[in-house]
Amino acid sequence: MSIGSPNLVLCALIPNQFVINSHPIAKSLIHWYSGAKRDLPWRKTKDPYIIWISEIILQQTRVDQGLPYFERFIKSFPTLRSLAEASEDSVLASWQGLGYYSRARNLHATAKHVASELHAKFPETYNGLIKLKGIGPYTAAAISSICFNQPKPVVDGNVFRVASRLFGITDDISKSSTRKIFSDVLNEIIPPDQPGEFNQAIMEHGATICKPRPDCDQCMLREYCDTFKNGSPLNFPVKTKKNKVTDRKITYMVVERNGSLLMKKRVGKDIWEGLYDFPLAESTEIRIEKRLPTITGPVVHLLSHQKLHVLFLYFSNLTSKEFDLIARSLDCEAFSIKQILTLPKPKIIVDYLRHLVK
Ligand code: SF4
Repeated sequence: MSIGSPNLVLCALIPNQFVINSHPIAKSLIHWYSGAKRDLPWRKTKDPYIIWISEIILQQTRVDQGLPYFERFIKSFPTLRSLAEASEDSVLASWQGLGYYSRARNLHATAKHVASELHAKFPETYNGLIKLKGIGPYTAAAISSICFNQPKPVVDGNVFRVASRLFGITDDISKSSTRKIFSDVLNEIIPPDQPGEFNQAIMEHGATICKPRPDCDQCMLREYCDTFKNGSPLNFPVKTKKNKVTDRKITYMVVERNGSLLMKKRVGKDIWEGLYDFPLAESTEIRIEKRLPTITGPVVHLLSHQKLHVLFLYFSNLTSKEFDLIARSLDCEAFSIKQILTLPKPKIIVDYLRHLVK
């Protein structure tokens, strides 16, 4: 039995069982979490399918925003097998509005793989989970600790913030090598008997107390917190590199005849792969010519690394011959509004259609 770590003491051997004394920070966090945690559907289960879906959704949105998406997705695909057997269009449509569509494609691919190659059973270890498509260190640690009691600490944005402030870690979190430094520190304090509770507690603490503007007055970790003691929580975590955002100018042609619109499925390897949108042109600037038909925009749409400036040109009153000719030359298909509502689409198209059918 190792007692090498200053932070974790396995202190006594009582006949037939170990008594594990957790690090006081872990103890305080878990105690606080047991009374303060929000009542959320994925906290009532250890089913790895449910935990997996919730963790992937929560990587890209806050809990209050992600909850309706989670409920909608689980209603459509209540089990791993139902997701594995679904069409890509229906998976992407259920993901609509969340963005990062590659995550939905990876969920679908992994569900198929686990269903067909692993008898619909998730691997129970971190090393087994991380081999699956779309499951990185964070998700593998979350699933293995919450569902299978593996002592693997999660490291995400919330955890970077809480741990950097607690321990005064000055390493730059925009460097990929820094993740290991945080993992190593958390490995010292994660309790082997409650790793899932600890991971959920530290994430909940980052989401509700140790926020970018922390509520230190409400925090039960003040006596341990390095940066609270020296008055510098707002300087942590240290991050030097800002996300680079590129501007893109897109002009969509919305071609309508008798209530049908021309759309096409995006096949290129990009963030909207597999989604349907209108024929488009991309340019360095957006020019608006007055003689053109109804114009909407430019509408600004923010993605994680792109700022889109989007103009919609609406063409109607076309003859059937003109409509067919445009469809052929732009390699598009005509869809009724009813059909379009069921297709997976980027949010910018959903918002435009809402305005169009108002
Ligand atoms: S005392 Fe403040 S900065 Fe430190 S962990 Fe608590 S909320 Fe975060």
